[in-house]
Amino acid sequence: METIRLLILGSGPAGYTAGIYAGRAGLAPVICEGLQPGGQLTTTTEIENFPGYPDGVDANEMMSQLRRQAERFGAVVRSRIATAVDLNKAPYCITFDDGSQVACHTLIIATGATAKYLGLPDETKYQGMGVSACATCDGFFYRRKRVAVVGGGDTACEEADYLATLAEKVFMIVRKPFLRASQAMQDRVKNNPKIEILFETNTVGLFGENGVEGAHLVFRKGETDERHYDLPIDGFFLAIGHTPNSQLFLPNVKIDEQGYIITEGATPRTSVPGVFAAGDVADPHYRQAITAAASGCKAALEAQRYLSEKGL
Ligand code: NDP
Repeated sequence: METIRLLILGSGPAGYTAGIYAGRAGLAPVICEGLQPGGQLTTTTEIENFPGYPDGVDANEMMSQLRRQAERFGAVVRSRIATAVDLNKAPYCITFDDGSQVACHTLIIATGATAKYLGLPDETKYQGMGVSACATCDGFFYRRKRVAVVGGGDTACEEADYLATLAEKVFMIVRKPFLRASQAMQDRVKNNPKIEILFETNTVGLFGENGVEGAHLVFRKGETDERHYDLPIDGFFLAIGHTPNSQLFLPNVKIDEQGYIITEGATPRTSVPGVFAAGDVADPHYRQAITAAASGCKAALEAQRYLSEKGL
């Protein structure tokens, strides 16, 4: 079996930044792209808040630049998905979807997070037929149509705002009587005439012949004035948060009750020696490209230190 000094799982800003630092340190890291090459950012269009791009940058363009930068320093990028991980003894053995295996002295987990769904059977039934968790990926199909976005956080507001540039009408389905998003995003959606916010509303089902034609909604569920009604829509977008992709590393790597990998203080060290976590998989708070990149840098520096202390 091939034995390498550093394996990086994930190809978002955390994975590639770890690759840049580890490459420059001469660790010849291998980066496995995982399920979503380029990470979650590739599902958005333009990034306006990454330092160094005063005019914004296309998300896919930025990720391909990060990849090139990592490769320039010797990182090898493989298009593989890890399917099994043995962290019982070092070097750690990782198995991939093509059946290949790699032993690594250090591992950086930068596997990110995945969009959450409500758990309604109709979400599965209409997946790709009107149900989506990515407005920027699928919004194009809803030009001049009616869509709904579920959620009241920053993501939901961003998605609603983006969809309003394409769709005829955008509803936000919010279970609480208020939005959780930042004030700036709240103002943006509240001032957009195409967006209507349905507060205290839950979705209990979807309907339609060959795709979504509407949602079954409940206003003030469980209250005396509870009201059931149907909202005609063509698209149903989920924006209710994310689940960290940490399951593969259990039980060795410790996670919190939401599934985020627990790291030691402000370091990227996990509960397993030589195994580090970077980016959204270990970040319940910030979840920004820049904070993911920073943690990728820290993870690479820690891996370098660990290898040098062990004389590997
Ligand atoms: P959040 O956790 O902030 O918001 C999730 C939203 O979905 C909440 O309104 C929540 O409702 C709702 N929700 C959750 N579960 C359900 C459910 N089962 N049914 C109905 N509604 C549900 O997630 P986000 O993805 O919006 O944001 C995550 C983090 O990323 C935040 O810190 C955010 O600020 C940040 N972010 C920053 C951006 C930026 O700076 N440009 C852009 C996007 C995100 P409730 O309030 O009732 O819990």
